[in-house]
This record gives sequence, C-alpha cells and structure tokens, in this order.
Amino acid sequence: MKILVAVKRVVDYNVKVRIRSDGTGVDIANVKMSMNPFDEIALEEAVRLKEKGVATEVVAVSCGVAQCQETLRTAMAIGADRAILVESSEDLQPLAVAKLLKAILDKEQAGLVILGKQAIDDDCNQTGQMLAALAGLPQATFASKLELTDGRVLVTREVDGGSQMLSLGLPAVITADLRLNEPRYVTLPNIMKAKKKQLDVFKPQYLGVDVSPRIMTLKVTEPPKRKAGILVPDVATLVSKLRDDGLVV
Ligand code: AMP
Repeated sequence: MKILVAVKRVVDYNVKVRIRSDGTGVDIANVKMSMNPFDEIALEEAVRLKEKGVATEVVAVSCGVAQCQETLRTAMAIGADRAILVESSEDLQPLAVAKLLKAILDKEQAGLVILGKQAIDDDCNQTGQMLAALAGLPQATFASKLELTDGRVLVTREVDGGSQMLSLGLPAVITADLRLNEPRYVTLPNIMKAKKKQLDVFKPQYLGVDVSPRIMTLKVTEPPKRKAGILVPDVATLVSKLRDDGLVV
C-alpha cells in the first residue's frame, strides 16, 4: 500500500512572526522556514508503517513555491521514498491545496493519505477534510493512534473529554494530532541519501486545477500589547482593585 503525506513549508515555529507594515500579511523575507510540525508527525507515522511492512511506499507532496523542494528533501531524509512538488507562486488556500492533492491522489492511487491536522501559519484545519470530501473518501481527523488491519484502518481520535475510535475502509484520509508519535531527528547520512531520491515537479495547470484564491485577506494585525502588571501588598488590596476595575462585584 502506498501512502501519500502532505507536507507544508511554513515559518519555523520558533520564529516570532512580524506583520508587514501594510498589514497585508506576515513578513517571510529572510525568515527561517521549516516543515509544518503536524506534517512531521504525519510523515513519521507513514514511515513507521513502512518500517513495519504495512506500507510499501511513502510519497511526500508539497504545494507551493520552488523552495518547498527543501522541505521535500527533509521529508525524504526522514524516510519518504520520493517526493512531488506542485509548484505555484499563488497564495494557495486550503481548497486549492485539497484539489491539487486530489489530483495527485488520482494519479498515484494511494491507499492512505496522511496530513497534519492544521498548518501553523494559517491555522485553517480544513485541507484534510476538503480532500476527503472532494475524493469521496472516509476521513478521521485529529488521530492520536493508528492501526491497519484487514484492509481497514482503526483510528483513535482526540475529542473533547475523551477519545473516539473509528474504523475506516481504505483508501482513507487521516489528519495527525500532536500525540500520534514523536518524530525522529534527521541524520546526516539520511540527508545525503535524500539528495539522490526522486523529486517530480508539476504545475497546477498540468493537473487541471484552478488555484486562484477564493478568499481575500482584508487586514492582518498584531494582537494588542498586554499592559504591564502591578504588585499589590495583600489580598484585600487585590480584591478592592478588582472591584474598582469592575472585574468582581
Ligand atoms: P490547513 O488546512 O491549512 O490547516 O492544513 C492542514 C494540513 O494540510 C497541513 O498540516 C498539511 O498536511 C496540508 N497542507 C496544507 N497546505 C499545504 C501545502 N501548501 N502543501 C502541502 N500540504 C499542505
């Protein structure tokens, strides 16, 4: 069984993002970019399934600018067998990415698609769900455990106040939550090996997908600055201050 894993290139989670002065978005010039952390988890799970002999091939897919090739090389150093870049300089919104992934899925005929539960740049949490709907496949989001048996996949998902178990027929779409696994570190020998692995590049037009944005961002602003706190000498002063500020009655 072949597994497709969607990996997005995003601003590294350690970077404190800056808003562009014209308020049109986040400034990514000269900023460290990395693989979306939930996609690392998705990829780790796929590679473990291959190591267990359950999967035969792991293919990493990224949609975006030419530099996404670096992210895909990292994916191959982690253990993906090959990679596909759908190259576009458009602002790719979740629906466009879901359509591109659907086109790749049709080409590759994979048995399982694993995505991250959300991209940490747009926080959309939409792409996996849209892909499942477009492809007419069963979906399990926020997976914290995954087992493949008898042509079905058993998924434990984190829900409010507990966990839920789902059994899905294959092919299926799964999105990875934080507790699914702990991704491995990339080793230097594997980085070297990844340089020789196959990386195909397609354009959206070749896949017959219109990726024009459907949603317009009106304005991006920083969260309001928090005011500095004050120290109060005792509880009585604290309570009277809270009363004065109308925070308790
Ligand atoms: P989102 O719906 O934007 O929060 O993204 C959810 C997941 O979809 C991510 O964790 C990725 O696995 C996948 N994804 C989103 N955008 C892209 C992209 N441009 N290229 C590859 N995968 C993507």
